[in-house]
Amino acid sequence: MDIVLATHNKHKVEEIRSFVGDMPITWMTLEDFPHVGDIEETGETLLENSLLKARTVHTITGLPAIADDTGLEVDALDGAPGVHSARWAGEDAAFEDNINKLLHEMKDVQPSDRTARFRSVISLVNGSDESWVEGSAEGVITEHPQGAGGFGYDPVFFLTEKSKTFAELSLKDKNKISHRGAALKKLRLLLDNRLAGQPENREDVSL
Ligand code: IMP
Repeated sequence: MDIVLATHNKHKVEEIRSFVGDMPITWMTLEDFPHVGDIEETGETLLENSLLKARTVHTITGLPAIADDTGLEVDALDGAPGVHSARWAGEDAAFEDNINKLLHEMKDVQPSDRTARFRSVISLVNGSDESWVEGSAEGVITEHPQGAGGFGYDPVFFLTEKSKTFAELSLKDKNKISHRGAALKKLRLLLDNRLAGQPENREDVSL
């Protein structure tokens, strides 16, 4: 089976491959299909955007496609940046710009009110076979960035049980407790079913 990961994000590819890379599947990414270009994320939910990306890549390549859409939901900001996490500080915002905006908007928020979660939806689209899985991780937004690993908002997302931010964890340790890791465990089950030739299952296997 060939599958295209509908992303240009090398970090995401690395995290996804570390979970499912050993399966009897030939993995490709958008680097293998440069003509696909940027896909505008016009959906209003993570599920809409992940399906939109997977459907677009499947239509253009003719191959099964997998897309992840992730958002950071901050309670003190009524769930923002959420589905707008990637471009929160502007169209060409770098990870650092988004972090600076987040810390600025939360400068007066007390430690006990800095709770947040990452939520990931991963969709698999192959013609009429459309399935998705979801995972989340609970944490607290720090007052300053900590750590050099990971990407995106990782340096300000603090895991109370680890006393570390995601950016201070190894990829292996991040995957064990992360939103994407939780979704990827379920994706693996979904792919196992497909490889075994089992009938379509549109349900999130977890919900
Ligand atoms: P996307 O639209 O799914 O690519 O993700 C939206 C944004 O969320 C990304 O640009 C990152 O800033 C952030 N993001 C996604 N996944 C992670 C993660 O695992 N850690 C930290 N930030 C993330």
